[in-house]
Amino acid sequence: MTTAPHGTALWHPFADMSEVKAEQFCVTRAEGVWIYDDRGRRYLDGTASLWYANAGHGRTEIIEAAAAQMRELAAYSVFNDFTNPRAEELATRLAGLAPVDDAKIFLTTGGGEAIDTAAKLARLYWARRGHPERTHILSRGSAYHGTNGLGTGIGGIEANRTGFGALLPDAVRVARDDADALRETVERLGAERVAAFFAEPVLGAGGLHPPEPGYLEAVAKICAEHDILFVADSVICGFGRVGTWFGVERWGLRPDMITFAKGVTSGYLPLGGVVVGDRVAEPFWRGTGGAFRHGATYSGHPTVAAAALANLDVLERESLLRRADELEGPLHEALRSLAGHPAVGEVRGGTGLLGAVELAPDLLAEDPGAVPRAQRAVRDRGVVVRPLGTALAVSPPLTITESEIGLITDALREGLDAMLR
Ligand code: PMP
Repeated sequence: MTTAPHGTALWHPFADMSEVKAEQFCVTRAEGVWIYDDRGRRYLDGTASLWYANAGHGRTEIIEAAAAQMRELAAYSVFNDFTNPRAEELATRLAGLAPVDDAKIFLTTGGGEAIDTAAKLARLYWARRGHPERTHILSRGSAYHGTNGLGTGIGGIEANRTGFGALLPDAVRVARDDADALRETVERLGAERVAAFFAEPVLGAGGLHPPEPGYLEAVAKICAEHDILFVADSVICGFGRVGTWFGVERWGLRPDMITFAKGVTSGYLPLGGVVVGDRVAEPFWRGTGGAFRHGATYSGHPTVAAAALANLDVLERESLLRRADELEGPLHEALRSLAGHPAVGEVRGGTGLLGAVELAPDLLAEDPGAVPRAQRAVRDRGVVVRPLGTALAVSPPLTITESEIGLITDALREGLDAMLR
């Protein structure tokens, strides 16, 4: 058992540090679907950390691949004409898996950077094609597209946008599941002023909302009709989370760009990127588009790429995409069994290994801290779930078993029981 140096210097993302200082949850070790705290207590990781540990924790094969790569070439940039074998290999492999013809892969260090890359590239594409007036970027209410500059401007969770002064100009949000709202916004602005529409296939951090049937197909069609770039933000939905490599194949979509991160390495090392379809890549790869003057120091980092390749090996060899597909029904059924609970308002999910249990409206009205309190009550019963607005979210590693899914719902039920006492 390691004793954590519970210090006072680490500023936690999205946390009110005046509260967190008093009580922290220190994770010291993880194996498979289990994590351990600094008191040696074991918890089922019902959230795969922050939606990313798709292959589960402690995979020797991924660790060894990263270590071997570090001994050979730990890090080197891929700016300009520099490259390295692992970055090339990873890009080729991802391009082969992507549901896009002749895909090109721009690598970043996380999802937020991937979003900012895609947003800049969307505008630059139109500028280089002679349409610099196509600047508007459309997105959905409640969308989460990371916390970098452009992603903050594009995002739809209002609390994440306030207090930072002027954000991205020409960012326009449309109602979450309303294809007509997108069409009306395009008509109001004029398609000739719109660069791109960004959408998460399953809206994640904004409350876990799977798309209404037909919605994604309809918005993809509207984009195609108006020559607007369709960008799928598959940072959560990729690498098996909804049973497919890039999420969007599930709906038969072929976006112009796909942003990814998280499950691409199962989080063993930080990585994100953008799959760029032929249409957007063409002016830069074969035409007169010139350089895309954009990139992060660690783009194409060989050790990170080696970890990603080993992670893809694990996902493939253990058929974890199919497994996610097979377990989505049982997970949803298990969560649905909580639907009648007096502390529960609504249960959402049924698309991949993603689910949310919304607390009952009276409970939320009574106690503004009900969601974090419920999360703690569940954690005290040995299962980690995630507070997400008015709900508790579940997104376990794809290696979870049906009986372990039962442990998640047992802890949720008992934790929610305790909320009523
Ligand atoms: N897009 C989506 C849909 C996400 O869920 C996230 C992270 N949760 C991001 C972008 C940002 O990714 P990162 O935190 O790696 O910057």
